Amino acid sequence: MYGLGILKGLGVTIRHFIDTYKDDVLYGFRKYSKSQDNFAVRQGTQATGAYTVQYPEEKVAVPERFRFTPFLVVNDADHESPGEDWCTSCGICSKVCPPQCIWIVRGTDPATGRPVPQPEAFFIDIDICMNCGFCAEFCPFDAIKMDHDYEMASYDRTSVNIHDKERLSKPFSYWMKIAPTTATEEADARGGWEHSDVIKEKKKKADAEAKAAAKAAAPAAPAPVAAAVGEAVAAPVAEAVAVAESAEDEEKKKAERLAKREAALARKKANKGD
Ligand code: SF4
Ligand code: SF4
Repeated sequence: MYGLGILKGLGVTIRHFIDTYKDDVLYGFRKYSKSQDNFAVRQGTQATGAYTVQYPEEKVAVPERFRFTPFLVVNDADHESPGEDWCTSCGICSKVCPPQCIWIVRGTDPATGRPVPQPEAFFIDIDICMNCGFCAEFCPFDAIKMDHDYEMASYDRTSVNIHDKERLSKPFSYWMKIAPTTATEEADARGGWEHSDVIKEKKKKADAEAKAAAKAAAPAAPAPVAAAVGEAVAAPVAEAVAVAESAEDEEKKKAERLAKREAALARKKANKGD
């Protein structure tokens, strides 16, 4: 119907206008004070209505799923291997990155010279990154995540915006802080709060220990052992008997054949005599 769209648009404007003053009534003018609680009310994701943000002194809280540039997850400082990369330098993120702005150098074992599943160097050109989040989506180890830090303006575009491994690495607790819901969902899917490889190793170790304990606790089983021994002895004996029987049969058949032949010869002789 003509004019319906205009009316809907006006409805949205009126709703925002009312929401602005509804919050004033609910929180009073406290929401404009500098206190952190009121600040959260005014700039939280639940805030409604129109409001002014005094940027850069004040910043609007971003929703959990907000994404800017990627960062690499590493172990926390209080972990048994602090600062260890979750990244295995598999290279999937650099392959799927549409503008190809990820560059990874795989690490090598200095003793053997063989590759190890850890990045020696990891660079992302933030000027080229288009914040699509493909790298984080495709990483099979939950090792690269999208950050909320959007304040990266600089006057130098030669090297400052090429983030190296040191700049990109952030502890897992940081990911938990900025995206608690997603981090919890991912940990549930992985089966724990650690890197998937660490979880797998721990599970393997626990399974091996459980098997060893079950084996040690199992009672001795003489009957099956005796049966097995009996079977082991009986098998060759049965085989020898079968061989002997078949040789006897063969002898019998041979004797029968000879007897038949002799009888035939005797008959032939007798016929000639006639
Ligand atoms: S961040 Fe993930 S996808 Fe990229 S190389 Fe590391 S483990 Fe592979
Ligand atoms: S967010 Fe997108 S463009 Fe940026 S590094 Fe990841 S895959 Fe590449």
